[in-house]
Amino acid sequence: MKAAAAILILAAFPALAQEPEPIKYPVHDKTRPQPTVVDPGTGVPPALPGQPPSDAVVLFDGKSLSAWKAQKGGGAAGWKVDNGYFEVAPKSGAIETAQSFGPDVQLHIEWMAPSPAKGVDQDRGNSGVFFGGGRYEIQVLDNYQSQTYPDGQAGSLYGQYPPLVNACRQPGEWQAYDIVFETARFDAAGKLVKPARATVFHNGVVVQHATVFTGPTTHKARPPYAAHPEKLPLQLQDHDHPVRYRNVWVRELKPRV
Ligand code: MG
Repeated sequence: MKAAAAILILAAFPALAQEPEPIKYPVHDKTRPQPTVVDPGTGVPPALPGQPPSDAVVLFDGKSLSAWKAQKGGGAAGWKVDNGYFEVAPKSGAIETAQSFGPDVQLHIEWMAPSPAKGVDQDRGNSGVFFGGGRYEIQVLDNYQSQTYPDGQAGSLYGQYPPLVNACRQPGEWQAYDIVFETARFDAAGKLVKPARATVFHNGVVVQHATVFTGPTTHKARPPYAAHPEKLPLQLQDHDHPVRYRNVWVRELKPRV
């Protein structure tokens, strides 16, 4: 492509620069506008877990956590497996995949908040799906008819961007995330050349659309990027609540043939 044409295209598509959208609100600002509540309908996830695509790496087949290990210490994942799902064993710690994935992936994961609901705000059905070896969290939370700060709701890029809408189902019902996560790229000197971003469907409803991370996600802060490998494990958070998961699979995105 000629340089002039490239400049024209860049000018027409400024999003190619992939700057994070400026955030007017401090981290966890409770006065930030609440996402509109929408009923996600009944189709996603289906009543019974579906079959993963043929090229997916199945991370949970309903029977065993053999694809996972304890994040601390690397021993066997100590969460409970029962009747087609697995459940956070509170205080046992996060689990992570034995395999690393990246740089860009599609993840399908279904989750269920405890019923009857217990606790309020962030202390209610809290877990999380982390990409990049624990750096980038898509929040899992029971904020169905329950108030919390917008940048900590289900489907948020935790501490950064609330979901576009609140598509939560009530606790005790299965919910689905379909996530396209593109990890950050760094040059050989460790300088950021492309930030991480995520597209998230919550129960079939788009709640993040190529949203660019400001850096790693964490509590009460928005730290800057720091160089890391492009392939890293996926993690699930133990936030002391018995959140359930099932039907978990991932696909690494390959270049177009
Ligand atoms: Mg969480």
